[in-house]
Amino acid sequence: MSEKHMIRCNACGKEQAVSAEGIQEEFLKIQKTWGYFSEKDGEVHRFSLCEACYDRIRRQFKLPVEIFEYEP
Ligand SMILES: [Zn+2]
Repeated sequence: MSEKHMIRCNACGKEQAVSAEGIQEEFLKIQKTWGYFSEKDGEVHRFSLCEACYDRIRRQFKLPVEIFEYEP
């Protein structure tokens, strides 16, 4: 048995197995620790989005996301 766990998109519920080689489809993972000046002081929020949901959500942004080439 290989080590496997699942990653799920919080928006649509799509599930993807994560294996040692990585995942077939990339997910956006966001984690935010809310601080004193928020209404969620001390809470950590974490969620994942599949690429389709990420694209759908970012199209609703008033300003486009910054896109540039990855330079290792
Ligand atoms: Zn999704």
